Amino acid sequence: MDRNDLIWNPWHGCHKYSEGCQNCYAFFLDKRYGRDTSAVVKNKSGFDLPIKKDKNGNYKMPTGANVRVCMASDFFLEEADEWRAEAWDIIRRRPDLMFSLLTKRADRIKDHLPVDWGDGWDNVTFAVSCENQKRLDERMPYLMNVPAKHRWISLKPFIGEVDLNEYLTGGKVEWVLAGGENYLGSRPLHYEWVKKAYDACVHYGVKFTFGQTGNMFVCDGKTYKIHNRTEQMVWALRSGLNEPPVDAEKEIETILAQKAEMKAEFEKKRGNRNE
Ligand code: SF4
Repeated sequence: MDRNDLIWNPWHGCHKYSEGCQNCYAFFLDKRYGRDTSAVVKNKSGFDLPIKKDKNGNYKMPTGANVRVCMASDFFLEEADEWRAEAWDIIRRRPDLMFSLLTKRADRIKDHLPVDWGDGWDNVTFAVSCENQKRLDERMPYLMNVPAKHRWISLKPFIGEVDLNEYLTGGKVEWVLAGGENYLGSRPLHYEWVKKAYDACVHYGVKFTFGQTGNMFVCDGKTYKIHNRTEQMVWALRSGLNEPPVDAEKEIETILAQKAEMKAEFEKKRGNRNE
């Protein structure tokens, strides 16, 4: 999983569930566009995105892609119970994609699996979001006990120190992703917390990615306000807290090139509109 992952939002909307939801980006963006996030709705045009084809008959989501599911909701949200069977069916039809099902509601996973789930599908990974130790201890037992081929932990927003050791033994967790908080009222992320989580992953041979610092990053006793997302990624890469290690400068070069390409594309479209 990386920044090139695709996104599939079969439904939109959610309810704040724990302290990690305080500055939820779905609520933040919806407010900007006057949309009520608490009204959970099925995505009319994008519900079946993974099985949609282009005019040449090719899937819009190409074989081999990683797909993050429910970036503006929760895959195991109560309101989505009536649509989930259909979503499972779509996932079943694309064994060539890897679906990351994002949730904070880990307690609901076990009772909302498809009938043919068995000991898990190869193309599904459960991604449980745990913002601090309390939520880690609350949600991880559910994640560890649910039958699954793949599991990862999202420490996003990472708002409190965590001890991952207990959950990394036994090899059930494949990856830990850490990242700070954004938007108004962001809470700080401390370098030491990221280092501690990274050290645990190195110890147990688990992949660790420090994706971005968030708006407020505390390092060596100083608080850095980093509002630019690209800068946040650059800081995270230069921290050296990735397992396996990455070539930070090469990655930064790629990120900057992608950003420049996107900007050029945007300018071109704007120019075309103004002509
Ligand atoms: S569970 Fe996720 S989408 Fe739902 S309110 Fe919390 S942060 Fe937002």
